[in-house]
Amino acid sequence: MTEIFFNRLRVILLDRDGVINHEPGPILNPEQFVMIPGSADAVARINSQGWKCFVITNQAAIARGDLNPDVFGQITDKMHRELQKSGAHIDGQYFCPHHPDWKNSRRLTSPVPCLCRKPGTQMLEQASSEHGFVQEEAVFFV
Ligand SMILES: [Zn+2]
Repeated sequence: MTEIFFNRLRVILLDRDGVINHEPGPILNPEQFVMIPGSADAVARINSQGWKCFVITNQAAIARGDLNPDVFGQITDKMHRELQKSGAHIDGQYFCPHHPDWKNSRRLTSPVPCLCRKPGTQMLEQASSEHGFVQEEAVFFV
C-alpha cells in the first residue's frame, strides 16, 4: 500500500514570502508576517485534493544577523496558526539561513555559496528524500 501511495504522491512546493504572505521586505518578526488574502484557502484546497504541500524558503536575514532563528520559529508558528484558521496546513518547511556574502552577521570578503539557497536544489532534494517523492512525479513549485 505504501508503495502505491508514494507512486501517486503529488506535491506542491511553495515559496513563502510573496506566495503565502506579503513580502514588503525581509520578514523579521511575527507582526510583519501578514497573509496574502486567499493564500490559506488555496493551501486548504491543495490539502483537500490530497496533495502534499511544503514551504521552501530562503531566509538570508538569518545570515545577515537581522533575524534570530528563534524569531524565525515564532514567525513559522504564526504561519501555521494563520493557515489553521482556514483549515489548511503544510506538511513541512525547509529554509536556507545562508547568504553567500554573509555569515554570523558578518560580511564575507569573498562569497561562500551554500547548496541550499534557491536556485540551489538541496532543499528540494531534502524534501524529496525525507518524504518519498521524486521530481519525475507530479511536483510543482510555486
Ligand atoms: Zn543555504
